[in-house]
Amino acid sequence: MPVDPLTDEQREIRDLVRDLARERIAPRAAEIDKSAEFPWDVVELFRDNEIFGILFDEEHGGIGASALMTLVAIEEVSKVCATSGLIIAVQELGSLGLKLAGSEEQKRRFLPKLASGEWLAAYALTEPGSGSDSAAMRTTARRDNGEYVLNGGKRFITNAGVAHVYTVFAKTDPDAGHSGISAFVVESDTPGFEVGRIEPKMGIKGSTTGEVFFNDCRIPEANRLGAEGEGFRIAMRILDRSRPGIGAQGLGLAQGATDYALEYSKTRETMGKPIGQHQLIAAMLADMETKCEAARGLLYKCGQLIDEGADGAELTKISAMAKLHCTDVAMEVTTDAVQVLGGYGYIQEYPVERMMRDAKITQLYEGTNQIQRLVIAREMLKENRAFLLAGVG
Ligand SMILES: Cc1cc2nc3c(=O)[nH]c(=O)nc-3n(C[C@H](O)[C@H](O)[C@H](O)COP(=O)(O)OP(=O)(O)OC[C@H]3O[C@@H](n4cnc5c(N)ncnc54)[C@H](O)[C@@H]3O)c2cc1C
Repeated sequence: MPVDPLTDEQREIRDLVRDLARERIAPRAAEIDKSAEFPWDVVELFRDNEIFGILFDEEHGGIGASALMTLVAIEEVSKVCATSGLIIAVQELGSLGLKLAGSEEQKRRFLPKLASGEWLAAYALTEPGSGSDSAAMRTTARRDNGEYVLNGGKRFITNAGVAHVYTVFAKTDPDAGHSGISAFVVESDTPGFEVGRIEPKMGIKGSTTGEVFFNDCRIPEANRLGAEGEGFRIAMRILDRSRPGIGAQGLGLAQGATDYALEYSKTRETMGKPIGQHQLIAAMLADMETKCEAARGLLYKCGQLIDEGADGAELTKISAMAKLHCTDVAMEVTTDAVQVLGGYGYIQEYPVERMMRDAKITQLYEGTNQIQRLVIAREMLKENRAFLLAGVG
């Protein structure tokens, strides 16, 4: 069995999520992919079993916020259905702004309903002209009589149309670059807020990815998160804590695909023996398992550091590494799982082709893996390792 740092109580929560995933979500996964409809029944299951509570502290309606357990829950669910794993990851992504920068009044107003799952959350940063270069955003927020008036639009927003609470980034000072961006909470029933096109896509098909528009959308000043101009910093602090969640989605996909390929390799026979006994297949399975276990070590370490209060450069680097490594492993391992199953791997009757399609997005969103590499290298270049060169030359 894999070595993990979980306490007995944490293992109990993991086992509860694992059982729900295997018994209630796995049988739905192929249908969610085929219908491309948002799985409200899975949200209901999470609500009934207090799964969203794992993300929030008791004071705000949760069961005791734990980054590590959030990652474990996303991983367990993503082993069987990456669309459903993403529901947990995005509840965290869309709530982190409130958790990190919200006033006590804002936390009391929003967090309990997010902790129970009555409301779903979303994070709206990307625009048509600004993805990797998020500071190039054009959405504006103009102050007017104790309110802000938002105008503009966001694209590729997960949970568009199903979320009630959107963490939105907009320019309060369009000429001030990064420091002209502010963060806001926008509720979906606010006049002037509209959901546009929902995108058909390659994988995670049950998750909605869509446009949202702000047309003279007026929100109270009380919905601004942090100070004016602090939005970009808040957006990045959120990503430092949410990117590991995408790593967990990737790891779940990789482990789920490995587990499936392993079982298949015991029963499919060629040339007189199960394919798992052919050395080339056995070696693939060994590499897949090793990659998953190594990725898990990095991911759980990152979760533990967040729970211990890590912040700043240390967190930025390890969270980018966890996201990068787990999601690259997801793409490699799910592709290998298709190979292990041979032609059957390519057929929709078997889950590994879906897992391979689902894995691709994990290398793209919450910062592409090129951007993760830039972030990691930037942090490395700031570090002083000159001592390693002592005595050299
Ligand atoms: C299904 C889905 C769900 C999403 N959910 C959300 C969400 O909930 N909220 C949200 O705000 N956004 C969301 N996104 C947006 C996502 O985060 C962006 O698509 C992603 O950050 C990349 O931006 P882009 O698509 O504009 O690509 P671009 O920025 O145009 O990049 C194109 C290519 O150039 C590379 N590149 C760009 N700049 C550099 C550089 N400096 N150095 C090296 N390479 C570079 C990129 O890695 C990429 O390969 C989602 C996207 C998808 C597809």
